[in-house]
Amino acid sequence: MKRIVFKVGSSVLTNRDEVAKERMLNLVSLIAEARKKYEVILVSSGAVASGYTALKLDRKKAVSKRVLASVGQPILMHSYKNKFDIFGVDIAQILLTEEDFDSRVHTKIFQDIIDSALENGILPIVNENDISTTSDQLFGDNDQLSAHVAHYTNADILIILSDIKGYYDDNPKKNPDAKLLKEVNEIKESDLNQAHSPNNEFATGGIVTKLKAANYIMGKGRSMFLCSGFDLSAARDFLFTDNREEGTLFIKK
Ligand code: GLU
Repeated sequence: MKRIVFKVGSSVLTNRDEVAKERMLNLVSLIAEARKKYEVILVSSGAVASGYTALKLDRKKAVSKRVLASVGQPILMHSYKNKFDIFGVDIAQILLTEEDFDSRVHTKIFQDIIDSALENGILPIVNENDISTTSDQLFGDNDQLSAHVAHYTNADILIILSDIKGYYDDNPKKNPDAKLLKEVNEIKESDLNQAHSPNNEFATGGIVTKLKAANYIMGKGRSMFLCSGFDLSAARDFLFTDNREEGTLFIKK
């Protein structure tokens, strides 16, 4: 059975100070369906944004961001649990930092947890541990965390569900004629070095962190599919059919 990692961002999971319940339910239903064909791991952002639904603190202050994450992580998992219960899927919460990838001993601990969860039919839900860690220990964005999770858990593909439909040949917000690229085999160094440009105040990434994730994944001989997390039809086509109109596949030739 092929193994896939889904990554979903804060802008998909929250909407104007609330957990976007319908979008989350659509995602949960897609994952429940995907589990019939694939081994699935979910990397989910949204702790800080979920925390803000309960507590209006300024996330730009380091301590407030930690408090928001500590309040929000259980809100996020509770929302997932309610929805996965409908499909009879049990979930496990796994919080990681960059240090978990630093040594073989640390890495093996979470690899074993994820393998065992999957063997026992449990869905692992991973997020960065934003709470008790210093900024040196963090990736800072879940795009790159999910790429590392995909590599170290030996996943065949990473699927990033985002607020954009894929990767374009120009900035689609500035150029209405920008074309979506269906397949990318190489990423230019200059594109990887652009300034970060998250689209949502609770998102850490933007297209640059997605390109970095894709570059890492391709360097490891794996592939990544970037598509919309609002309309899951591209992800569905990619997972269950041989046809797809949308989304970008990053794959080394
Ligand atoms: N770990 C952060 C959260 O759950 C988000 C990181 C990101 O936006 O990529 O809120």
